[in-house]
Amino acid sequence: LVQLAVPLNFVGMIYREIKQALIDIDDMFRILDQNPEIADRPDAPALRVGSGSVRFEDVRFAYNPSRPILRGVSFEVPAGRTVAIVGPSGAGKSTLSRLLFRFYEPQEGRILIDGQDIAGVRQDSLRAAIGMVPQDTVLFNDTIGYNIRYGRWDASETDLREAARSAQIDRFIESLPEGYDTPVGERGLKLSGGEKQRVAIARTILKGPPILVLDEATSALDSFTEREIQTALDRVSRGRTTLVIAHRLSTVVNADEILVLDHGRIVERGDHSTLLARDGVYAALWNRQRQEDEARKALQQAEEEA
Ligand code: ATP
Repeated sequence: LVQLAVPLNFVGMIYREIKQALIDIDDMFRILDQNPEIADRPDAPALRVGSGSVRFEDVRFAYNPSRPILRGVSFEVPAGRTVAIVGPSGAGKSTLSRLLFRFYEPQEGRILIDGQDIAGVRQDSLRAAIGMVPQDTVLFNDTIGYNIRYGRWDASETDLREAARSAQIDRFIESLPEGYDTPVGERGLKLSGGEKQRVAIARTILKGPPILVLDEATSALDSFTEREIQTALDRVSRGRTTLVIAHRLSTVVNADEILVLDHGRIVERGDHSTLLARDGVYAALWNRQRQEDEARKALQQAEEEA
């Protein structure tokens, strides 16, 4: 009975947490993906972050032993650079970000930040060093200002506005009758996917972490919103070590390096033009996406004309 009571208690706790609707996807990640087996050693030191270089060394990982997901993945994101991970759905892209946050640990291999194995440092210090712009941000039932300040509670009014400006959401906020005090979320103003993403970007700019994980939206945004978000993402990633988990390919063109993950291995790597010229997996993904985008645009146009 005791054995049963513990997980039930845990489920109850998760349920209450979710019910509060005080969830943004970062937290959701933390709550749902929290793996109780991952504990810090009592004497684990804090991560000492300098320039924030990230290195995966022959990482092997499976959620379930019978089904390997990563089969020896090695790459480096040099400090301040941007590396994008692309690959078919289910290839293991998001798994790499979960391992970087240490929601799971590799069965073999190591992940290093500035030369320190993340398995040996305190999880709170690790997560403080990494900012996440998720694909879909669920907002708190509070004001839009609160939702941005969540990145750093002691931020000044000037910093708040500056972050909103960099994230290209300032004009939208200022056009609202109550400005930064406008209630948002379930019980307030409903924001579009693109607006929510810009709130998440503003929050991350305010947090100012040295390392960033951008989980690119799966769904297609209209091209104006996509350009605005792209500008905001370029600003937030400038000078920070950035790992882009690219479910679509629109943000990868300017990455310093693109890694193509397929069946748990990196099968191609290089920048956009090198990979296109190679005419391999990346070129095929790129061409397919272009065709899909063109078909979508043609459909939109036909609908507008009808
Ligand atoms: P997409 O582009 O579709 O989001 P992805 O490349 O990000 O895909 P991952 O989310 O990393 O893929 O998942 C890789 C594989 O691991 C998938 O087959 C998925 O079903 C499996 N998987 C993901 N999370 C878990 C989990 N918690 N337990 C078991 N299997 C999982």
